[in-house]
Amino acid sequence: MSKTFENIELWWVTGAQLLYGGETVKIVDGHSREMVDGLNEGGIIPIKVVYKGTANSSKEVESIMKAANNDEKCVGVITWMHTFSPAKMWIKGLQALQKPMLHFHTQYNAEIPWDTMDMDFMNLNQSAHGDREFGHICAHLRKPRKVVSGYWKDEKPQKAIAVWARVAAAWADAKDMRILRFGDQMNNVAVTDGDKVEAEVRLGYHVDYYPVSSLMDYFRMVTDAEAEALVEEYKKSYDIVIGEEGEEEYWLRVRNAAKAEIAIRRVLKDEGAKGFTTNFDDLGGADVNAPDFLGFDQIPGLASQRLMAEGYGFGAEGDWKSAALYRTVWYMTQGLPTGCSFLEDYTLNFDGARSAILQSHMLEICPLIAADKPRLEVHFLGIGIRKSQTARLVFNSKTGNGVTATIIDLGNRFRLIVNDVECIKPKPLPKLPVANALWIPKPNFEVGTEAWILAGGTHHSCFSYDITPEYWEDYAEIAGIEMLHIDENTTVSGIKQEMRTNEVYYMLNRAVSM
Ligand code: MN
Repeated sequence: MSKTFENIELWWVTGAQLLYGGETVKIVDGHSREMVDGLNEGGIIPIKVVYKGTANSSKEVESIMKAANNDEKCVGVITWMHTFSPAKMWIKGLQALQKPMLHFHTQYNAEIPWDTMDMDFMNLNQSAHGDREFGHICAHLRKPRKVVSGYWKDEKPQKAIAVWARVAAAWADAKDMRILRFGDQMNNVAVTDGDKVEAEVRLGYHVDYYPVSSLMDYFRMVTDAEAEALVEEYKKSYDIVIGEEGEEEYWLRVRNAAKAEIAIRRVLKDEGAKGFTTNFDDLGGADVNAPDFLGFDQIPGLASQRLMAEGYGFGAEGDWKSAALYRTVWYMTQGLPTGCSFLEDYTLNFDGARSAILQSHMLEICPLIAADKPRLEVHFLGIGIRKSQTARLVFNSKTGNGVTATIIDLGNRFRLIVNDVECIKPKPLPKLPVANALWIPKPNFEVGTEAWILAGGTHHSCFSYDITPEYWEDYAEIAGIEMLHIDENTTVSGIKQEMRTNEVYYMLNRAVSM
């Protein structure tokens, strides 16, 4: 179990009723315990499932749901209807529940014992109709939820529950997420901006500014010894590659980057923030070439790279939505093997059916997606307010399939856009010393990019090899926001029609967010 998920729980509530007598409910209680233990021992669901008993009346349901709302450890509720649990008794509890919900359609017993089955057996294995009665009241209430069907001992439903569990945990994390903006949005940029009030209402993000001058105070207080200790860590983690800038310049810039990393991490810790943005036009301090200069030599690229790998959200050019979404991607993929990063559509590579998009940024790509040990290099970066040599990690991404996502603000709603992509091997870029990935969007370059652009997608997105579109489906369901998924079956006319339909839906229905 990943450390991140150690202190949170999923609650399991079994729906029953007293019609069949107290003895039946006792047996159901025993079955439920066995099933919950089975899920925990299966090792697939990364969050502990806690059995909260059978609910046999409206009062009991309401009291469990209200307790779930108030329990900080509980990130979601799993319901299972063992018997025909008359669903009017769920109305008040479901209306009260503010946490993500999963309805598991399963049964204690696997195969029908054809030769011996009698009415008593039937009474103990009634999910076939109990779960339909429950599903009906959820549909009537328009209750956001995930429905998972399958035998509880099987891997497939456990995997579907595991996906939802990770998303539910990330949702709880997002509801308690503060993002600090060092500097404002990049001037005039539309797509990375948006309504921060509505983002907090819908998505939980609390977005604040933090004065760059105060960040510079932290920077100046970092001691040389602290910076040296961190540089020693760099030496262990990365290949040290000193180029034409020479030894002295190299270590000067690497120490500057180490100080920037220590300063930003301290601010984030002191302020209780889970993510941050930077802006290359707002770096504090004065002339980088002055002999007494004490400040960032350029945008803190290496710091952003390493802090992303640690789980801090990051968005460049003031992109607070990407910072928050990256944190969510990192959080829900804890313990999964392949990695995630903030990325930007950089340059196109036309190559017939293999036409692809180079994903990079000025500096800030997360080393969790690196194919090999990153190289620590120093190069000149001439963009923004300060033009200087600066340190960065350089690497190519792993190859393989992944999913990238972004959230945009359309004025009347947030839209989550998700695209399945295939990372392929790039060629060497000796004159562009930045980390990168190269991907072909699904279903192909033309349709994938046409659909993304028609949908209004950003040039920034949050990518992961470890998640599937199912994660985003669950996320959009919990958040109550629109999701457009561009995959191998997408057509341009299809996605246009989906957007027209959604426009009407969201005009009529400000879907309830939790
Ligand atoms: Mn950018």
